[in-house]
Amino acid sequence: MSNPVINVAEIFGSNVFSDKVMKERLPKAVYKSFKKSIDEGKQLTMDVANVIANSMKDWAIEKGATHYTHWFQPLTGITAEKHDAFISPVGDGEIVLEFSGKQLIQGEPDASSFPSGGLRATFEARGYTAWDPTVPAFVKDNAVGDVTLFIPTAFYSYTGVALDKKIPLLRSIDAVSKQALRVLKALGNTTSRKVVATLGPEQEYFLVDKKLFMQRLDLQLTGRTLFGAASPKGQELEDQYFGTIKDNVSAFMADLDAEMWKLGIFSKTRHNEVAPAQFENAPVFSMLNTAVDHNQLTMELMQKIALRHDLVCLLHEKPYRGINGSGKHNNWSLATDDGLNLLEPGDNPHDNMQFLAFLAGVIRAVDRHADMLRGGCATAGQDHRLGANEAPPAIISVYLGDMLGEIFEKLGKGEKYSSKGKEFTNVGVDTLPSFPKDNSDRNRTSPFAFTGNKFEFRMVGSAMSCAGPMLILNTAVAESFDEIAGRLEKSKDIKAEVAAILKDVFRENSKIVFNGNNYSAEWEKEAAKRGLPNVKNSVDAHKALITPKAESILTKYGVLSKEELHSRYEIYIETYSKVINIEANTAINMAGTMFIPAAIKYATKLADSISKVKAAGVSAAAQEGILKTVSTLLETAVKKLKAVVDAKEKASNISEAVKKAECYRDDVFTAYTSLRDEIDALEAIVPANIWPVPTYADLLFKL
Ligand code: ADP
Ligand code: MG
Repeated sequence: MSNPVINVAEIFGSNVFSDKVMKERLPKAVYKSFKKSIDEGKQLTMDVANVIANSMKDWAIEKGATHYTHWFQPLTGITAEKHDAFISPVGDGEIVLEFSGKQLIQGEPDASSFPSGGLRATFEARGYTAWDPTVPAFVKDNAVGDVTLFIPTAFYSYTGVALDKKIPLLRSIDAVSKQALRVLKALGNTTSRKVVATLGPEQEYFLVDKKLFMQRLDLQLTGRTLFGAASPKGQELEDQYFGTIKDNVSAFMADLDAEMWKLGIFSKTRHNEVAPAQFENAPVFSMLNTAVDHNQLTMELMQKIALRHDLVCLLHEKPYRGINGSGKHNNWSLATDDGLNLLEPGDNPHDNMQFLAFLAGVIRAVDRHADMLRGGCATAGQDHRLGANEAPPAIISVYLGDMLGEIFEKLGKGEKYSSKGKEFTNVGVDTLPSFPKDNSDRNRTSPFAFTGNKFEFRMVGSAMSCAGPMLILNTAVAESFDEIAGRLEKSKDIKAEVAAILKDVFRENSKIVFNGNNYSAEWEKEAAKRGLPNVKNSVDAHKALITPKAESILTKYGVLSKEELHSRYEIYIETYSKVINIEANTAINMAGTMFIPAAIKYATKLADSISKVKAAGVSAAAQEGILKTVSTLLETAVKKLKAVVDAKEKASNISEAVKKAECYRDDVFTAYTSLRDEIDALEAIVPANIWPVPTYADLLFKL
């Protein structure tokens, strides 16, 4: 099977109703008025909307579209779409294809079945979608040739309460942009008009053979393996990372790239990741809002396209025990409309007031709101990564690297930093170039690392929407920039004020800076001494989202009202309980109908063998030994299975949401995790041809 040759330049953005397309197709005045309203953040007039809608419809129909949909991001963390055909009946059995400005701008899906976290009572199931004109509409085609026009929208109640992930994200982008611009202006910048947040999300994922996946109920229903003895080979040879990409995986990746490019997503990097059967895709960064939409599309495409290749894409944070899980490194920075990166240190970071002011602001924000940043990354899936001896740890810290770390310390203590000049790396081979050293080295263990000219927030989980974690980061940083801007605006000597800010941040917030190995046991002790939060499970981590501190900052910057915030918290907590309940149900099903019967079958075989062998007058000691082991494991497994059922019963009888979630965490989760010990031990004894599901070796290496 080979992929047809594709012309990247030709297909890139071909399914996007882009600025270029609009410019070509819209009357000049309409295009101008559209651009103006985006630029000034004003609403479109209905006349303009009608013309745009019509043009969009014609363009989409040329692409083969029959339907349009308002595409939105409810609090499930995934996207939602309801398709409507363009047809509109006229006269006797006739139709015309129609799409009006009103249909473009606003929709009214039935909101009653989306999670609303208590908001439902106040909005009576009525929800509206509104076109987000800051990101382009696009058409999506699929393998069966069905084409639909997608209109990115925000989703809110009739009282104006945000029911989605996009609205608060946009509000947080606004907040951080405004405060960053204030700092910039106070520092004397006269050219920039706007600041935007940027994001480049690196998406990790696993692939598994579809036939094998279909034999694993746990993978199908929970996205991870609830059982499975370790494979004889894991990732210890370190031969997967950046390894040669197999042809079938390559075919998938080529397809994925092509589909991403058609949607105007800057898919750039693809490689094998650390674990067997684990991979990564990374786009070139873009505006944060667009990047979040694009990442949602990327996750969707990965899952769809894998199926075309008889593969299944696993986005879960920890599909397999004992080998690396998957994250989504969120590379984040701030840029101006005239092309400045506010986190660019330049050649002399110690002298770069602008860089130092922004750096100090981010360090302070992360230190003050480490608990919220952690809370925003928490899910049941993430519990297997964060704090579970895995990358990255549950403790938030900031990595600056040696040089910046030293600058921060020296300036923070009011001492002089003398530049060592540009250092060069030389490998000692004349034909190889020597090159200037980076300002920051790589530190793969840090959850929040400065990487050259951006921060890389590595705690985000692979299955999550980036919107939640980014919203918290933006807001935390907005608060700290607000403070810095206030000081700078009042100051007569900007340089002295930046120096004073650095000293304050060093004194108050440098406990968050850590350049060492975040995976070490010593760090955990050291972090405790520093008083850094180290919350190892999501039920507790989420609590940071509803503290008075969290409420105060999120409401102050207009990102989430108290009501909106609590609704999200409630959804997180309820979702946790639901996920654990599904895992428990699946574990009960698999243990009860697959593993225990398989072990009984083997025990019966052994018993048969023992009586036959003995009848032949020979010792059956070996079989007896194995039978004893199998029987003991079986007995315990049956008891533990009962314990899972009981724990579930106990949890289901608790009505208070947090107590319920705590019971799911402490009783239910631990019960089926404990059951796994016996089942995995049985897997190691029961003959492969009797074991009812594919093993870890199958799942990880038969790709
Ligand atoms: P890695 O962490 O694997 O070494 P790279 O350094 O190549 O990855 O880049 C990771 C991501 O960071 C890419 O998506 C890249 O586009 C993004 N990135 C680079 N500069 C910025 C920036 N200013 N703002 C946001 N993301 C950025
Ligand atoms: Mg990275």
